[in-house]
Amino acid sequence: MKKVIVATKNKGKLREIKRILEDFEFDVISMEEAGIEDTIEETGHTFDENAFIKAMHIHKKTGKTVIADDSGLEVEALSGAPGIYSARYAGEDANDKKNNQKLLEELKDIPKEKRDARFVCAIAVVMEDGQSFIVRGTVEGFIGFEPKGENGFGYDPLFVLPQYEKTMAQLTSEEKNKISHRGKALLKMVDELKKRVSAV
Ligand code: IMP
Repeated sequence: MKKVIVATKNKGKLREIKRILEDFEFDVISMEEAGIEDTIEETGHTFDENAFIKAMHIHKKTGKTVIADDSGLEVEALSGAPGIYSARYAGEDANDKKNNQKLLEELKDIPKEKRDARFVCAIAVVMEDGQSFIVRGTVEGFIGFEPKGENGFGYDPLFVLPQYEKTMAQLTSEEKNKISHRGKALLKMVDELKKRVSAV
């Protein structure tokens, strides 16, 4: 089994990444399990840059293969906000509930047909030998008018998938992983890692 460290403290993300990668031959360990407690400053201006900064930081510390995800929500009516600031949209003491409340407030006068949104996920991988690559995945939907569903995390209760007529939080984790931005990016990552696997 190839060991990979996932550079995130977000339990929701970690759970999804572990769940998807357990079907492949990767032994996924968290930063915590690798004994790393650093808070990594996300100083980039794009999802790609932030993912790469996180992966490289942990790789430099451990010399191991590291994967890092940077993801977020882009809402068309808000010119792409909250984007790379999704985790802290409601401010420094933000949490999922406060972020969702703020989003609903910002969109309160916006009708359904103008509430289009997408989740974006960039995954950066830095391998043991220093090779690196970035893959991306997106999923399109719109922002509902009230939270629905108990699964997932973050903006999932507000993110409606038109083809299911459900929010992301109303899907099971298997259903979400099949269609989500992170699920798509992870499948691309697995393909790419397999191509380069002799170096892992
Ligand atoms: P990051 O840790 O800087 O990548 O922050 C990502 C933030 O984007 C999370 O805290 C969530 O608010 C949001 N986000 C990313 N992926 C998802 C998802 O799959 N569902 C819901 N919210 C997400």
